[in-house]
Amino acid sequence: MSHDAVDLLQSLIRNRCVNDGTPESGFEVRSVGTLVEYLGVQGEVFEPMPGRQSLVYRIPGSDPEAPSLALVPHLDVVPVDAAGWSVDPFAAEIVEGFVYGRGAVDMLNVTAAMTVAVRPYLTGERKPRGDLLFCAVADEENGGQLGATPLVNDRWDLVRADYLLTEVAYPGLSFDDHRTVPVSIGEKGAYWSILETAGSPGHGSLPYGTDNALEKMITALAGVIDTPVPADVTEEWVSFVHNLGLDEESTRRLIDIDQLDDEIDRIAVFDPTLARYIHAATHLTISSNMLRAGTKTNVVADRAHAEVDIRGLPGMDRQFVDSHLRKAMGSAASHVEIRPIMDSDATVSTIGNPLWEAIGDAVEELDGHRNLAPTLMLVATDARFWRAKGTVCYGVGLFDDRMTFSEMLTLFHGHDERVSVASVERTTALYERVLSRFFAEA
Ligand SMILES: [Zn+2]
Repeated sequence: MSHDAVDLLQSLIRNRCVNDGTPESGFEVRSVGTLVEYLGVQGEVFEPMPGRQSLVYRIPGSDPEAPSLALVPHLDVVPVDAAGWSVDPFAAEIVEGFVYGRGAVDMLNVTAAMTVAVRPYLTGERKPRGDLLFCAVADEENGGQLGATPLVNDRWDLVRADYLLTEVAYPGLSFDDHRTVPVSIGEKGAYWSILETAGSPGHGSLPYGTDNALEKMITALAGVIDTPVPADVTEEWVSFVHNLGLDEESTRRLIDIDQLDDEIDRIAVFDPTLARYIHAATHLTISSNMLRAGTKTNVVADRAHAEVDIRGLPGMDRQFVDSHLRKAMGSAASHVEIRPIMDSDATVSTIGNPLWEAIGDAVEELDGHRNLAPTLMLVATDARFWRAKGTVCYGVGLFDDRMTFSEMLTLFHGHDERVSVASVERTTALYERVLSRFFAEA
């Protein structure tokens, strides 16, 4: 069946469901068509805007008391800059055992694997004990407004579940023969913000003593950039590090808040991407990404507008973020208005339950160990809508050794996105086993 998954992955890539953030983009109807054709059974289709389709199947379990499980992959992908690619990003070519294309790791590989794993339950060949839900959604890459959000808000009767699998599937981590499979159990909060300053216009030839909005903004942003961001060694981080099988010294340094930053600097020398991941997993992060100001070269700037991407660990809420920004901006803070663009708190699911054990069983069968590392995702996914309703949500996949955890991080939304054929096959086998173990044991 894993051969089917590679074919499906290629079709999904070729469907080019590119979500550029506008409601007219995406056009997930194409991939819904592909999935329905493969599954051979019509599901419920939701289409809040023409072309923006999500596809839902709810297969009733044989035991009404048994827990339910939802598979929630997304169908859309982010845009590409084709000039940066060595191949056509939508041809889904296989080169040296890798399927290339936008969506290969985010997340059409998993979408294909889940689709193959769910088919025997839809055809009646297999029967789940609890309800099994398959929900392939649109618009994940733009916050789920035309996909998961209306489904969870308006059709909870249909999409409710005790357990759920979605993003993110990371490759395994391997240190000195100790293998670990990361399982995404939570995600950071997002506190994207607009900063605004105002001033008074005047002639640019007479700057002395003027009220310049751009200069105030630059002073404020310089404070934000220069101030160290708060760190936290969370419970999730400690258990992640303990599962990596590192030597005692490294383990100790990575979970000691006083040594953490030095250890990140040390790791950055040989693996900058891993250092960046560790930093983000243990800190409030702030990335100043947009700045606009003024009207003309010879007019004193009367307004400035900046946008910053801010992500918080569990417990770092909007109040925490604003108070950090105000302190960091120093005396410039009194001139700056902070306006939230996004306020979404961190969400985390607990471990040690029938789904966690089913994943452990499947990994043991396919990879020879049951070392699962609970991992905090740095990005927002559709899982947060279900977690807010009490659903336990994880993300998991099974890769071969041709791609490291760090390499994978650079491919998310990057050039030459690719996944090995063997990894698609292993991930498909993982989902087939997780379903059969979950419904056998739950
Ligand atoms: Zn994604």
